[in-house]
Amino acid sequence: MNGPVPVDIVRQHLIDPEICIRCNTCEETCPIDAITHDGTNYVVKAEVCNGCMACVPPCPTGAIDNWRNVFKANAYTVDEQYSWDELPAQNPTVSAPASASPDHAARDLVDEASAALPASSDFVRGSTVPPWSAARPYVNLYTHKAPTTATVVGNYRLTDDSTPGDIHHIVLDFGALPFPVLEGQSIGILPPGTNADGRAHHARQYSIASPRDGERPGYNNVSLTVKRVTHDHAGNAARGVCSNYLCDLKKGEVVSVIGPFGNTFLMPNHPNSHLLMICTGTGSAPMRAMTEYRRRGRLKGATGKLMLFFGARTQAELPYFGPLMNLPKDFIDTNLAFSRTPGQPRRYVQDAMRERATDVAPLLADGNTHVYVCGLKGMEDGVLQALAEIAEAHGIGWERLWERLKREGRLHLETY
Ligand code: NAP
Repeated sequence: MNGPVPVDIVRQHLIDPEICIRCNTCEETCPIDAITHDGTNYVVKAEVCNGCMACVPPCPTGAIDNWRNVFKANAYTVDEQYSWDELPAQNPTVSAPASASPDHAARDLVDEASAALPASSDFVRGSTVPPWSAARPYVNLYTHKAPTTATVVGNYRLTDDSTPGDIHHIVLDFGALPFPVLEGQSIGILPPGTNADGRAHHARQYSIASPRDGERPGYNNVSLTVKRVTHDHAGNAARGVCSNYLCDLKKGEVVSVIGPFGNTFLMPNHPNSHLLMICTGTGSAPMRAMTEYRRRGRLKGATGKLMLFFGARTQAELPYFGPLMNLPKDFIDTNLAFSRTPGQPRRYVQDAMRERATDVAPLLADGNTHVYVCGLKGMEDGVLQALAEIAEAHGIGWERLWERLKREGRLHLETY
């Protein structure tokens, strides 16, 4: 009878808690629920992980790509991993198993689970590679263990005082310290203090809202778009640790920063590239960065189109409403969708996309179009559905196009 070959040594998949920014990407990507988390760490269940590697490319920091040779009987438990502040060293007495590549080795931990695995395209919904013409990003220059500092040089409320949504535009300056960024990347902020267990807060991730040459051109600074969290997802009162810390910062205060992160959600740098940008609320941050880079004309000879779909509860809660409306119509095709305007029916970005289907379709058919989706997790299904309907209605097979967009680094999703 052919059964799984028993092995004593396996390569166990682990997540580095020092680099992990707790963005949940790995847990969402894992097709077999091998990844979980508590209030502190993201961890891998050794008995479930089959080493399929689906989680590795999307991880913005590389924290996911860690492996230790362990005796199978001594594989680190989830509870052990929760207690770690750093990864344990490789035990030198445990040598690599015969099948040393991570996927083969981890497969030894379970034998049947992989048989039920869908093809990667079924669960990886966006690209795991950057656009071909993207600039090369720097990542992980600063980590939880070795953060850098930035000084607050601006902190402005973006939303109308009359609205409950308190969204801030925060500018952080790195002075002479190197912190090179690209549009679409994010940084981590380390809020001061400790959590309920007495451990230092882990970093919270924010997309950079400014272009690579600075919020102020030629300055070593970045801006963030931060919404003050006052309720949890269930609607119960809850004070977001980092968002409240950031929204209350005064000019001149110094913050601890890690990063930069992200090596796929990046903008194309060829001049005839089109940007189709779809966002809700503070998910507008990377769209602002890309738009501003193109507005400043840093991409020489740019002829590509910019089309934006931007959703918010009301006009007063839409970050950057004023500056956005000042952008020339022939520079960016802006489409707003408000869901809670009194007396008006609820309208989401996907509704606006359907209304503009005849203009979205030619963009989808163009191999120079790059699609970016950022904002609420809930919008992802609706936006993909709208893209599929628009494509199909215009004779473009969505399944093939979707595969192509992913493969060519032209469909980027960042939703939380
Ligand atoms: P929000 O105000 O709660 O929502 C923005 C708009 O999206 C509202 O009109 C909302 O409508 C609508 N919406 C809700 N469900 C939707 C769906 N299924 N499809 C389409 N639209 C939908 O947004 P927010 O509080 O600013 O949150 C933005 C999200 O972006 C957060 O999850 C945040 O983590 C994420 N994000 C932030 C950054 C950053 O740098 N700050 C970066 C990346 C991502 P309703 O009236 O139904 O609520």
